[in-house]
Amino acid sequence: MNKFKLILVTLLAVSLTACFPSNNSAKKEILLQGYTMGTTYNIKVVATTEEVEALDLQKKIDTLLEAVNQEMSTYIPDSEISRFNDIKSLEPVEVSPGFKRVLAESIRLGKLSGGKLDITVGPLVNLWGFGPEHRPEKVPSDELLANTRLRVGLNNLHLDDNKLSKDIPDLYVDLSTTAKGYGVDVVAELIEANGIHNYLVEIGGELRLKGFKHTGELWAIAIERPIFDPLGDHRAAQQVIIPKDNAVATAGDYRNYFEADGQRFSHIIDPDTGKPINHNLVSVTVIAPSSMTADGLSTTMMVMGAEEGMKFAIKNDLAVLFISKAENGFHEEFTVKFKQYLK
Ligand code: ADP
Ligand code: MG
Repeated sequence: MNKFKLILVTLLAVSLTACFPSNNSAKKEILLQGYTMGTTYNIKVVATTEEVEALDLQKKIDTLLEAVNQEMSTYIPDSEISRFNDIKSLEPVEVSPGFKRVLAESIRLGKLSGGKLDITVGPLVNLWGFGPEHRPEKVPSDELLANTRLRVGLNNLHLDDNKLSKDIPDLYVDLSTTAKGYGVDVVAELIEANGIHNYLVEIGGELRLKGFKHTGELWAIAIERPIFDPLGDHRAAQQVIIPKDNAVATAGDYRNYFEADGQRFSHIIDPDTGKPINHNLVSVTVIAPSSMTADGLSTTMMVMGAEEGMKFAIKNDLAVLFISKAENGFHEEFTVKFKQYLK
């Protein structure tokens, strides 16, 4: 949900003329594009033009994504999440089914990772200048950091069926790390429910795909080579993967950061220190059936760093690619489970 969210995963170039042959009743790749969650979405469905128009698919997608934002965006003052964050009462509040689904998965991943993924880190994200509040571009004092850390901790948040409660009045829940993936999942489910089974859904670099392109080939995805390139004009493909019927999520911190005192500060916070991560891991790509899970897991291992992240990936039997900065360029490592998806 970050405005500056890097788009790390790019789709392989497909010529638009090839997508739109003149025969309207032939199945082809139809591109639906728009804006959501402070970023763009790109959806390809393999269908006929009449089908997509008759289904009013783009309108349904936009309505659905607006509803997701209205539940989970901390950028919207009267969203469900913002209202929960504003309430000072410790009484349980009823949450809507979508919000509950994202909360439950985020809390599960938080526990699985020993607290490395922590949806209550919001105050620290804001303190370091990456949230909805103003970016300070300076390093906070130790005292301010210690005071802010008192407001953080997954153990202060409780989800009991559809009731959500907090132990401290100032707790702040931030679903930036799983909500975009959730958006991808619900759009994919909507497309399926409308009878389309060959598609690719991408929101701000998180994607999920199913079936085949109109040519009968499997979808191929290029994972971008990370370059410290603020202008973004030196992108190059690193790996091509064929993820089959899965989601692909990449966490990376090389475009969303600020610099102060000659140091780079990432927008990803290590809950164990309260500070932005500071290691040589530059991106983590996860392939998994659910985009929400892949999204959360990629950030989780980004917090952990390459060594701990790899242990976590092996222990949990995950398909993961780690790209780290090495002395001369970049170093890649992937799990056995990831290898099967390499082209
Ligand atoms: P990335 O592509 O780098 O994973 P995301 O937007 O998916 O980016 O997630 C990063 C966002 O998640 C940050 O901007 C912040 O709001 C939030 N965040 C930062 N650190 C953590 C953490 N340890 N646990 C959960 N959320 C975090
Ligand atoms: Mg992420």
